[in-house]
Amino acid sequence: MTMSFARNLKCRECGRDYPLDPIHVCEFCFGPLEVFYDYEAMGRAVTRDHIERGPPTMWRYAELLPCNPETAVDIGTGLTPLVRARNLGRLLGLDRLYIKNDCQNPTWSFKDRVVSVATSVAREFEFDTLACASTGNLANSVAAHAARAGMKARVFIPADLEQGKIIGSAIYSPTLVAVDGGYDEVNRLCSEVSDKYPWAFVNINMRPYYAEGSKTLGYEVCEQLGWRAPDHCIVPLASGSLYTKIYKGIKELSWLGLVDWRATRMSGAQAEGCSPIAEAWNRRSFLIKPQKPNTIAKSLAIGNPADGYYALKTMADTNGAAATVTDEEVVEGIQLLAETEGIFAETAGGVVISGLRRLVEDGHVRGDEVVVAFITGAGLKTQEAVLPAIQPPLTIRATLDSFEEALEERDGVLPAARGA
Ligand SMILES: *Cc1c(COP(=O)(O)O)cnc(C)c1O
Ligand SMILES: [Zn+2]
Repeated sequence: MTMSFARNLKCRECGRDYPLDPIHVCEFCFGPLEVFYDYEAMGRAVTRDHIERGPPTMWRYAELLPCNPETAVDIGTGLTPLVRARNLGRLLGLDRLYIKNDCQNPTWSFKDRVVSVATSVAREFEFDTLACASTGNLANSVAAHAARAGMKARVFIPADLEQGKIIGSAIYSPTLVAVDGGYDEVNRLCSEVSDKYPWAFVNINMRPYYAEGSKTLGYEVCEQLGWRAPDHCIVPLASGSLYTKIYKGIKELSWLGLVDWRATRMSGAQAEGCSPIAEAWNRRSFLIKPQKPNTIAKSLAIGNPADGYYALKTMADTNGAAATVTDEEVVEGIQLLAETEGIFAETAGGVVISGLRRLVEDGHVRGDEVVVAFITGAGLKTQEAVLPAIQPPLTIRATLDSFEEALEERDGVLPAARGA
């Protein structure tokens, strides 16, 4: 890894250093390992101008990632739109609300960011097989990146996933394994598989590198705000990794002098049916009680979140908060975002929008803050969730009479005709 400023892995608990190997836990205290960089050297190499002249993808921040940009596996991920959400903002009472629309990635979720980094590193380690334990979106992204990288893919998912996520993986022809159980069972199985087989499990033995990919969401938002950190981020929580890494990304830009330090607040959202992080937050505890998930927000259905503790620490350190929403509110949130801003999000997006609404009502999010809501996955993958709530089409014969009859039946009146 000659081209990278990554220097070693470091235990987040005891601080012990490890070489940049395909490992993820500390041998001494079982703490998780994290990539550590030479920030001084990085700071000399990276300028705003250098980044702005880079490719229109997440790889414009290659120097801040733990892999060699020359050999990175890039399927066009990142630099997704940051949309000023005036309609939704007006409705919620927020003057400066932005939507980070990460639906617009190659496999339609933010997971392409983490998998792009993990795949690149896996190739540097000369693995021939890419694998994952997934709640759905990760499966899509791993299958696609393995195809692009010419690697074998072994993808493990809970058997009860949405059609869109099963097809969205199967199309790339991975070995797709549907496990009878939830994500936590899939993950436990994959830990065993990864002990036995020499595969690059992106979110197990590659996890320290994988997680770094999420930092690019923090970088992009700052760059797109004109090199300014947001005041408040609203992020969906599953394992808690995305949430903590967006914050790491924002902090790094300020360490590197690319944005001014601003005490960015980090708030999270979960569905009530799987809310172990929010539940601990509400108890004012750093101790997560694992839950058995029961929610339509399947992409967030992790009952025993690996980074839950660190998410809670970030929440406390940044004066953030956690919101929970019912499954009904998940659907309402999806509809609200679609109807106000023209963005069709998956269930995780519904969690974020309804969670944001709750945080505004509770007074946690203030009307004058620059707020960024992270929409991490696209709605066509979770159609089952909204199908019962949408208006069915007017079904007619191909005649003007039939059209007007249907319109009148629905609205009671006909719209004004030309020249009337
Ligand atoms: C995986 C996922 C998340 C959150 O993931 P973390 O495990 O918390 O990093 C959020 N949104 C979507 C759509 C996801 O697929
Ligand atoms: Zn340790």
